[in-house]
Amino acid sequence: MGQDRYDAIVVGARCAGSPTAMLLARKGYRVLVVDRAKFPSDTTSTHLVHPPGVSALNRWGLLDRLTATGCPPIDTYSFDFGPFTLAGAPGTDDSPVAYCPRRTVLDKLLVDAASEAGAEVREEFTVTEIVIEDGRVAGIRGHDKGGEIVTELADVVVGADGRYSRVAKAVGPEQYNERPQILCGYYTYWSDLPNAGTFEVYTRTRRGWAAAPTHDGLTLVVVGWPFDEFDANKDDVEGNYMKMFEDAPEFADRIRGAKREARFAGTAVENFFRKPYGPGWALVGDAGYNKDFVTAMGITDAFRDAELCATALDHSFSDPRSFETAMEEYQATRDEHVLPMYEFTCEVATLEPPPPEMQQLFGAIHGNQDAMDGFARVNAGVTSPAEFFSDQNIGRIFAAAT
Ligand SMILES: Cc1cc2nc3c(=O)[nH]c(=O)nc-3n(C[C@H](O)[C@H](O)[C@H](O)COP(=O)(O)OP(=O)(O)OC[C@H]3O[C@@H](n4cnc5c(N)ncnc54)[C@H](O)[C@@H]3O)c2cc1C
Repeated sequence: MGQDRYDAIVVGARCAGSPTAMLLARKGYRVLVVDRAKFPSDTTSTHLVHPPGVSALNRWGLLDRLTATGCPPIDTYSFDFGPFTLAGAPGTDDSPVAYCPRRTVLDKLLVDAASEAGAEVREEFTVTEIVIEDGRVAGIRGHDKGGEIVTELADVVVGADGRYSRVAKAVGPEQYNERPQILCGYYTYWSDLPNAGTFEVYTRTRRGWAAAPTHDGLTLVVVGWPFDEFDANKDDVEGNYMKMFEDAPEFADRIRGAKREARFAGTAVENFFRKPYGPGWALVGDAGYNKDFVTAMGITDAFRDAELCATALDHSFSDPRSFETAMEEYQATRDEHVLPMYEFTCEVATLEPPPPEMQQLFGAIHGNQDAMDGFARVNAGVTSPAEFFSDQNIGRIFAAAT
């Protein structure tokens, strides 16, 4: 057994775990954060961070560190539907741009920030068991690389261990709003693929792709096709990846002149919400809420969870009777905030052509810069789809178009 009892042990040290550990440590709590990875470490994920996520980095005093890595800012989101393109600004005056930082850079920066805040970080530490005593989570068991099994105890164990969360498996939380895989996505990196500060999205029937500038002059290009084509296409990812660009000749020309600098990576994910708390445990990030990556919301959502959960835990540490109320509020705030985006994401992930009334709306948005900015902000998680697609706002857009 280790010597210390912690206030919190966080399992997983990426976008959800390190910020949770950092925020708790900054409040003076004794925190242990463990991850089986050694950082810098890559993971199967593209990495667009929308302006609300950038805003969180700024609040935490970490944005300057990110910009110092030379990651190019993205000030425009463009959506090419074939006949027309909607292009707008995704951010707000306070947080005007997005970034697409490599996870090797972003996650390392977050781990370091947790450590600087005073959290004890153990890399290459694998959790093999969640300790449960009298129906309450009391700690973890696990080991360093090749090391002995140790037990560490804490008032609360936070599962920031991704969508296959071991913490969630151990506590079996209620799972709701479940949907199976909808889309599969594959990505790689290109040099000499000019992209001027834009997150470019192309939507075609049963096909979609996106490009964004990242570190080292590279451009990330991610494509998607419906999950029902997974088996048919999995043996020729490159052929299917390249073929879809024929539907956008200008982009096809551009990528023909570019050089692929990495192997293809890809996957498909299930969609679900989990109740994110119970006696002695909490869940943040993908462990508690997972959705298709087509709208690139995961990192931004993980940052929001970290803040909400750390605030709730802070309340309950000072008054243990308030755990249930504080965590219930965390869950309610999360669910209320993400539900419209979850529905939007699941719909976009089908890669079905927009229904006729949506196509009419897109026609009315086209050329109206305010409305195009509004559409970009929906896709950036700044404005709720419920608000943008409200009767009142749609009425305004159609009125401006006549
Ligand atoms: C193909 C793809 C593309 C994506 N594109 C984007 C995008 O462009 N923008 C965006 O915002 N989001 C994107 N996402 C989603 C994003 O990757 C996740 O939402 C985000 O990584 C969630 O962070 P997390 O910290 O919750 O979990 P994770 O990033 O999954 O981190 C979990 C960590 O827990 C550790 N861990 C797990 N189990 C154990 C254990 N037993 N012991 C020790 N450590 C453990 C793992 O090693 C890992 O480091 C994408 C996802 C996929 C799959």
